[in-house]
Amino acid sequence: MYEIFEQLLSERGVTPYRVAKETGITTATLTSWKQGKYTPKPEKLQKIADYFHVSLDYLMGKNSSLTTCPDCGFTYDPSYPEDIETHIEQHTAWEKAVKEFGEIYSDGVKCEQIKAENRKISHDLSLPLEERCEAQIRVLRCLFSRSLVANSYSLDHVPFDTYVAMMLNNPSYRKNNLEDDLLQALIDKYGTASGMNSGTIYHIPNKSKAISTKDKRDIKRDLDRIMEQLSNQEYGPAAYDGEELSPEAAELFRDELEIALKRLKLINKEKYNPHKNKK
Ligand SMILES: [Zn+2]
Repeated sequence: MYEIFEQLLSERGVTPYRVAKETGITTATLTSWKQGKYTPKPEKLQKIADYFHVSLDYLMGKNSSLTTCPDCGFTYDPSYPEDIETHIEQHTAWEKAVKEFGEIYSDGVKCEQIKAENRKISHDLSLPLEERCEAQIRVLRCLFSRSLVANSYSLDHVPFDTYVAMMLNNPSYRKNNLEDDLLQALIDKYGTASGMNSGTIYHIPNKSKAISTKDKRDIKRDLDRIMEQLSNQEYGPAAYDGEELSPEAAELFRDELEIALKRLKLINKEKYNPHKNKK
């Protein structure tokens, strides 16, 4: 465990003394930890973990485990600080989306359950039409939720009523799901709209397509990796444009690189989006 602590010290370029000072843990505690005489109490270890922005599990050398947020449904590895950051972003996006779009079934498993139950009710012809209709609307809420998740809770997603109107015009949905009376009742309520010709995921038009949370995470990882290779100086001092890279210049270079990577993401999106020429 102390090895992980030492690894963190060298990675972040801090001394044990500094950690002791800022966490209120005595250097004596750290020393006896190093000598294997004594392991700091969990509260103290937590302070150290917080200091480095890693999880307690990570500090204790336990294998990382994925967790899923019960609210936003995001699955991530809490032992990676960048995953925690990504979750905060995703969680904030989820909160805004709930305000904008109403109830969202973010938990994929729960969503599938609700969908299956309600699909059954909606096809039960012994029940009154109104009840079947309500159940089908809940099925559509589930599909809508999956569509929002697939779009990283983008506020550019169409609202629920529009989504339903689009689905009611979507041949693949109509064929598989609905009896005539049910379809008519839903059309009376929501109308129909074009914009989705297949599937259940709404594709946000290109012009408003932005860099997703996942893209941001990928970019950050690429950036960190490239900058680390640069500062490793394995092949001599890092240089850019023929100039040796000072820390300030490296920072500028990082900013430029970040912009370039973001642009590249958007270009690739354009290139690989099969819907780009369809309207
Ligand atoms: Zn969350």
